[in-house]
Amino acid sequence: MTDRSRELFLKAQEVIPGGVNSPVRAGRAVGVDPIFIQRADGCYLWGADGKRYIDYVCSWGPMILGHRPPEVIQAINDALENGTSYGAPTEMELNLARMIVETVPSIEMVRMVNSGTEATMSAIRLARGFTGRDMIIKFDGCYHGHADSCLVNAGSGLATFGIPGSPGVPVDLARLTISLPFNNLEAVEATIKKFPDEVAAIIIEPIAGNMGVVLPDKGFLEGLRKITRENGILLIFDEVITGFRVSPGGAQELYSIMPDLTCLGKIIGGGLPVGAYGGRRDVMSRVAPDGNIYQAGTLSGNPLAVAAGLATLMILKNKEIYVRLEEKSRFLFSGLTDAAKRAGVDIVINRVGSMGSVFFGKNPVVDFGSVKHTDTSKYRSFYREMLAQRIYLAPSPFEALFVSLAHNEKIMKKTIDSAFNSFKKLGNMQ
Ligand SMILES: *Cc1c(COP(=O)(O)O)cnc(C)c1O
Repeated sequence: MTDRSRELFLKAQEVIPGGVNSPVRAGRAVGVDPIFIQRADGCYLWGADGKRYIDYVCSWGPMILGHRPPEVIQAINDALENGTSYGAPTEMELNLARMIVETVPSIEMVRMVNSGTEATMSAIRLARGFTGRDMIIKFDGCYHGHADSCLVNAGSGLATFGIPGSPGVPVDLARLTISLPFNNLEAVEATIKKFPDEVAAIIIEPIAGNMGVVLPDKGFLEGLRKITRENGILLIFDEVITGFRVSPGGAQELYSIMPDLTCLGKIIGGGLPVGAYGGRRDVMSRVAPDGNIYQAGTLSGNPLAVAAGLATLMILKNKEIYVRLEEKSRFLFSGLTDAAKRAGVDIVINRVGSMGSVFFGKNPVVDFGSVKHTDTSKYRSFYREMLAQRIYLAPSPFEALFVSLAHNEKIMKKTIDSAFNSFKKLGNMQ
């Protein structure tokens, strides 16, 4: 059989940097070339060679219902019949905005954009404009899209100025972003003390999903809420993954914490390119044209994307779905825990609802430091073994694994069996 993916990948590298339109897809972290995808259905992906895989990437989060849910496909088809873009408001945008406002506890007004990156970039601009301050605090290992202010690494010590995380990010901009260890409230307190009246916002993934899944310690998010309120700093929850994932209202609903601004993406687009940012009315009213803080988009609120998002959120209104997702996810992850134990391999599982990560090692994984100390070469081997058994995991040890409504018990049993085989091979390698 010819390796069609390999063929396509070689050709793609001539005309697309790295052959991919987003770096992690290239699979360099696991040393495996990407599989080019032909189509998807339910919990399955088909590669260009026609091989079928069980998909736990779910397009990096959006496909919570599985691929091609009939209601969503129908909604897109219906919208398509009426045209693809108007550059003018539609009733469907109003319906989607209403749905988001009704569901996400802290959102009183919302603006649609085209990606999670745009959502965080716009929320940060708004926070800066609203507070009249320039600095922002983020956390190591959290990803907020690729806008300049977010591509910043921590300096060497705590509470030092940020340094550019990529060439092309100006030093003068990076120094306005301070990156601190996740779950470390003392570092936040010290930083705010060091830069009084300079910090516009703290932005955080309330449940981190981009260094693998890392949960907030008890009291951490509450502490951030308190200290931001006391210091006139806006608290931004980046719920691009967790929104409509860990509960309909996201992590803020799960933990009962009201941020000032929230960023959404992924699930709210139902698999089409969508983002949104929203929050307090007095803050959102400062966005143009009501206010003077500028943000715009030719394709924002695109009818196809809004139709897909709305159809997805309509289905997710049924809270019983989250009970089912929790049951499925518990079944899978407890099965993986058990399989690793039987195979004599140490793993740590971090999970909230239908998002979770398998780390190799013994110690609790609570921040980016501990993530980096997990055994990533074991993940590499695990990834390859699983792929050989047609299980499609994220091609990086620092990513989440997603369970969708389309994953049933039989499929997850097969996954657990495959994991056991893979763990056993790892055990033998020790
Ligand atoms: C995916 C993601 C983003 C960026 O969204 P894009 O649509 O890829 O631009 C931002 N924040 C978080 C938490 C994400 O997971």
